[in-house]
Amino acid sequence: MAKASPTLEFDTDWEYSSAPESTDHIQIKPQNELFINGDFVVPSDGNYFDTINPASEKTLSKVGHATADDVDKAVKAARKAVKGPWSKMDGAERGKYIFRIARLIQEKAREFAVIESMDGGKPIRESRDVDIPLVSAHFFYYAGWADKLEYAFPGKDTTPIGVAGQIIPWNFPLLMAAWKIAPALATGNAVVLKPAETTPLTALKLAEVLQEADLPPGVVNIITGAGKTGQAIVDHPDVDKIAFTGSTEVGKMIMRAVAGTGKRYTLELGGKAANIIFEDAPIDQAVEGIVNSIFFNQGHVCCAGSRLFVQESIADTIISKLKDRMETLIIGDPLDKNTDIGAINSKMQLDKIKMYVKLGQKEGGTIHQSSYSLPKKGFWYAPTLFTDVSQSHRVVQEEIFGPVLAIQTFRTVDEVITKANNIPYGLSGGVWTDKGSKIFKISKAVRAGVVWANTFNKFDPSSPFGGYKESGMGREGGLEGLMPYVNLV
Ligand code: NAP
Ligand code: MG
Repeated sequence: MAKASPTLEFDTDWEYSSAPESTDHIQIKPQNELFINGDFVVPSDGNYFDTINPASEKTLSKVGHATADDVDKAVKAARKAVKGPWSKMDGAERGKYIFRIARLIQEKAREFAVIESMDGGKPIRESRDVDIPLVSAHFFYYAGWADKLEYAFPGKDTTPIGVAGQIIPWNFPLLMAAWKIAPALATGNAVVLKPAETTPLTALKLAEVLQEADLPPGVVNIITGAGKTGQAIVDHPDVDKIAFTGSTEVGKMIMRAVAGTGKRYTLELGGKAANIIFEDAPIDQAVEGIVNSIFFNQGHVCCAGSRLFVQESIADTIISKLKDRMETLIIGDPLDKNTDIGAINSKMQLDKIKMYVKLGQKEGGTIHQSSYSLPKKGFWYAPTLFTDVSQSHRVVQEEIFGPVLAIQTFRTVDEVITKANNIPYGLSGGVWTDKGSKIFKISKAVRAGVVWANTFNKFDPSSPFGGYKESGMGREGGLEGLMPYVNLV
């Protein structure tokens, strides 16, 4: 019987001692302003919205709601910074600021991790061991490029493109901010960044770090708000480039909005990855890999392995082991260090997951859920498997963005390649096998930006990341991640 964490009010029978992360050292301001031109400023119409902890539904802080006027102020501040010494500064000098930011994030890593888990619902183990270390690694990596652009683009000079409008989602809030800000700064641009409405707090904490690092005013502006604020950034005539991570639906709207304006853009959008398990795979590791690919972080991962393809001969074994493993996953308080699965990010997202699971059953799919007792308060969803589904089912074709796995079987390599590619998305994929030849064949044939072999969801700042088809355009990370931020002359 799976257990819920004892630090929230629900279950009693618990195998592990509770290990809640302390929140004593965390300072969350009751009210957060917009970060424009190096200062925290009141939103022009004086409006604020609440950000809550999705595990308890308690309000954490009020956050400024940026209007189109505020967007305009932020863009003007960024333009002034680009025209000032920032973009002409020697790369080594610019790099020093970015190194400083990276080190300050490392120093405050625990604080960032706790706030990330409180504001977004992800387990502390993940924000502490994955998100925040990758954030500082990303700043370190791009700090290193700042004085080496001539080697990144041999034989060419580079100039910054100017003001970048950057809009990010709620699933990896600070990491997505780092993916956007670090390469833009390394190449001498200024930015206006908008975090997601449900997870603004770590980006605002980052603004404090930027002040502490003495980053010149206006180089990075962080403004909070909802979709409309994002739209005002996209529509602003003095923005040179839009970097967006989020849903395919909004990505398409942005593409339409910037068409014909001369603005450059990169889009990191949705995914529906195929995770392919061959009969010669290391079975137990593969089961752990499946769990990691779809259940951890509540399936709130754009590259989650939400479609599982198992070779027919081992399907029963894999499904039975997976069900056993699901029973031992710990769901509950994101701040408990034992927790595997935290809270769903918002009520809206929870409703979307429930809607898809109902729909999948209506379409003929069979579900299996572990016997969790879910916390009473907050937004929770038990890990869920779908069997008896096929390529045409909507739960197989559409991104659910929750802990819901659709399982299908296959017999041959060619069959699974066809099935894996029969989807509008192409962000990521995975293959589990003992044979290098199969790995090479699958990773070349699956139309996805990344295909992991005998592992899943591994990231490194030096590896470019991005999608094919409706999963987006452009790459972030690595040398390729510099390109969207420079003009080659
Ligand atoms: P979303 O609804 O598209 O929102 C993303 C961001 O855009 C948020 O800051 C949102 O603000 C803002 N926004 C909403 N409407 C807008 C508009 N009309 N114009 C400009 N900005 C607008 O996506 P989400 O639900 O936050 O995130 C989940 C999606 O992100 C999934 O599809 C996932 O696959 C994708 N994702 C992709 C990657 C990748 O690298 N490919 C990485 C992470 C996530 P509000 O929050 O205020 O609505
Ligand atoms: Mg929140």
